[in-house]
Amino acid sequence: MPLFTSCCPAWVQYCEKNHPELLKNVSTCRSPMEMFASVIHEEHKTSARKHYHVAVMPCTAKKFEATREEYVLDGKNPVDAVITTQELIQMIKESGIIFSEIEPEAVDMPFGASTGAGVIFGVTGGVTEAVLRRVSSDKSKTALAAISYHGVRGMEGIKEAVIPYGDRQLKIAIVSGLGNASALIEKIKSGVHYDFVEVMACPGGCINGAGQPFVAPDGKVQRGDGLYAADKMCSTKRSEENMLVMEMYNGVLKNRVHELLHTDYARRGE
Ligand code: SF4
Repeated sequence: MPLFTSCCPAWVQYCEKNHPELLKNVSTCRSPMEMFASVIHEEHKTSARKHYHVAVMPCTAKKFEATREEYVLDGKNPVDAVITTQELIQMIKESGIIFSEIEPEAVDMPFGASTGAGVIFGVTGGVTEAVLRRVSSDKSKTALAAISYHGVRGMEGIKEAVIPYGDRQLKIAIVSGLGNASALIEKIKSGVHYDFVEVMACPGGCINGAGQPFVAPDGKVQRGDGLYAADKMCSTKRSEENMLVMEMYNGVLKNRVHELLHTDYARRGE
């Protein structure tokens, strides 16, 4: 312990370069971008229709992530190209696309179904809140609200929370900004115990990624509020409530969960 999150490639690379001894503590989970790409790749690789996977992402660290050899499947990274949200906006403007004139179209299933837990990944503390929703044995609405009041929300660079879990207390830290990550690591090295640490390289999380459109400081808070509002509108809040994803565990992911959804960053630290 502690277990560090692995969804931010800039944090993973920072850890590799500066604290390789901690890599064994980094979750083996691939990032959301790479998990999604693995599943799409497996679903469509035998299809007659060719697919080209473009990920629209909040930062350029995701471009680097798409080149990492850990994620290679069948000889290539399942993400073919990464563009940032700013680049996408620029491309839309340059090509003269007028959104109001576009005919709306549903997302292909099973990929169009999502839960609130996924929506809040973009704001600092969101990954932790999603994990707590998943592991909490109390699935009531009151328990859901209680998790959000335990100190996981807010734009502070370092947040700490103690969450009851069974007969023990989980000590959690949530950091955003690599300077804050460095300060927390020093604390851990001095003997302070945490069970779980979420790290996002960008202050405030992906809502403030360097590939996102520029925003004034209060806009950052508004983006976070927007994600929480979107979460409120989701009829399903916990990852395990996404039945289409749960079905995948008996389909495309059967006996291949580790191969397709996980990796092993610790190998690089050896
Ligand atoms: S926190 Fe920043 S660097 Fe990390 S994945 Fe999000 S936008 Fe990219």
